[in-house]
Amino acid sequence: MNKKKLIAGNWKMNGSLAANQALLKGILSGLKDPACAIAVCVPAPYLAQCQALLATSPVELGAQDVSQHELGAYTGEVSVAMLKDFGVRYAIVGHSERRQYHGETDAVVAAKAQRALANGITPIVCVGETLAEREAGKTEEVVKRQLAAVIHLNGHCISEVVVAYEPVWAIGTGKTATPEQAQEVHAVLRAQLKAATAQADRIQLLYGGSMNAANAAQLLAQPDIDGGLIGGASLKSADFLTIISAAA
Ligand code: PEP
Repeated sequence: MNKKKLIAGNWKMNGSLAANQALLKGILSGLKDPACAIAVCVPAPYLAQCQALLATSPVELGAQDVSQHELGAYTGEVSVAMLKDFGVRYAIVGHSERRQYHGETDAVVAAKAQRALANGITPIVCVGETLAEREAGKTEEVVKRQLAAVIHLNGHCISEVVVAYEPVWAIGTGKTATPEQAQEVHAVLRAQLKAATAQADRIQLLYGGSMNAANAAQLLAQPDIDGGLIGGASLKSADFLTIISAAA
């Protein structure tokens, strides 16, 4: 089926007013009629700056997390209404760094995805196995369990969600899954989505984990890879632009 690929940058905890301006200027000046959808998921303090810089561009704004709660005494958290105030379209949910360093469980990830969807923000739900899980032959079991947690959200169809397969061992390590390894897991996820909804082919299934300018084309050519969630390489405008052009 013909759907646009999505290339989303995850800046993580990087950037400054000056660096963000230079990076977005570089990306916007190099964008020529992109064939894919594009987003940058920026640190929360820079949402206002990036919203202004992206206002007339095709690049959409994303957040890196969202609170599962509506509002109130949750020091340090950012609500979905706050993200909406800055024109945020996407929120990464359940990134492995949140699962690992902030103890986010599948239930928390589902609550966050639910909260985002209920307020018109598309969650980019991350799933992926650790190296130990892969070596123990548990990749399929782990990603299926993580996806199952968000597959039946109250009143929402999974087709409203973007899913990112991010093998934890490939994130920020320079060790990319081979296109075949990535496709194998994407096919498992697609089959699970197909069992849940007739809309499964519409769902964007992104790959993330050391995707870069050199390997993007091969990864994005796989039948079930519908885009990329890109960390390190999204901080360099030339590399991000090359990945965007590979996603035609
Ligand atoms: C990520 O953080 O989502 C990611 C994929 O990072 P990197 O591209 O740096 O591996």
